[in-house]
Amino acid sequence: MRAWLLVLGLAFLAGACAPRTLRPSIDPALTAKEAARQRVLAVQDEDEKLDRIEEVFGRIIVCNAGLCEKKKGYLGLTLFHPRFVDDKAWVQAYREVYGLNDDYLTVVRIAPKSPADLAGLQEGDLVLSINGQRPDTSSKQGLAEFLESYRAWTGQGPLSFRVLRGIEVAYATEEPRPACDCVALLVSSSQVNALADGQNIYVFQGLLRFCAKDEELALVLCHELAHNGMGHIKAQQGNRLIGAIFDGLVAGLLGVNTGGAFARAGGQMFSQEFEEEADYVGLYYMARAGYDIQNAPDLWRRMASENPESIGRSTTHPSTSRRFVALEATREEIFAKQGQGLALEPETKPDRDRSGAPRPGGAE
Ligand SMILES: [Zn+2]
Repeated sequence: MRAWLLVLGLAFLAGACAPRTLRPSIDPALTAKEAARQRVLAVQDEDEKLDRIEEVFGRIIVCNAGLCEKKKGYLGLTLFHPRFVDDKAWVQAYREVYGLNDDYLTVVRIAPKSPADLAGLQEGDLVLSINGQRPDTSSKQGLAEFLESYRAWTGQGPLSFRVLRGIEVAYATEEPRPACDCVALLVSSSQVNALADGQNIYVFQGLLRFCAKDEELALVLCHELAHNGMGHIKAQQGNRLIGAIFDGLVAGLLGVNTGGAFARAGGQMFSQEFEEEADYVGLYYMARAGYDIQNAPDLWRRMASENPESIGRSTTHPSTSRRFVALEATREEIFAKQGQGLALEPETKPDRDRSGAPRPGGAE
């Protein structure tokens, strides 16, 4: 019976409509060559976007180190190796764009005016040693361990580099700058969005296209950094956990399956307030990084045109209209402080310190 149905189905499909034009035949070798070319173009485009993120975000994390609890040493240098590319189809494109070499870590990015830049290091330099230690490039594990040591050194003082740039050259950096311990990663998605996970932030490609000016990009990156700095992600996870415990209690005591409703509600508790707090603190971060905040609220008018439904109230985010007005008020607060020569620090409730933790002796 089944076999008959299959035969009948195939006969039916054979009679289905097919395209009727006679098109030029396609050489698979040309398609493969074009695929390689498109990968190179995509890596070049990604490189430009990462340059932009590095320049803006590097400035933000250095200028706000004083407000961040977790700090790192910032050198403004990015190292890369073919082993970091998991997808084999893409390795050649990365090799071509960055001039990668299997035997060395390659300097692929130097932030302008960073300690690495001031020391004279350049993109394309092949690393022979850092602080006298030669990177083990024979395995992913060896590379990971070396980068872990490098990360530790950036918190301990100036670094010495020996690199290959045709000839062997030695460089000594100045003291790495204290910075917020956060990395901005690029997500290949056309969505106009950014996220924070409590440690790092994720910038969607679509956001970079939307934010034509660096001031707009800085505003969004500062908002995400504020989520991490204010411990919002941890707090939401905690609220979700409390909700999940309640789900369990209801199921156990009343025999009712809540389907995780309390966990969901817990995760969304204060989410509007957290968003508003990230906007508020984020604008301070932006001003402290030396960006012009005069037109910062305008981002929410542009966002409103992009997503007209966000002009009204949603469950997780404040409306774009409310965010615009709140940002204007924050801007005026910052301008007043700048006018009086006061320190640019977000205002906190009297019984809380900047991280939101109760002050010693403060009322809970
Ligand atoms: Zn947010």
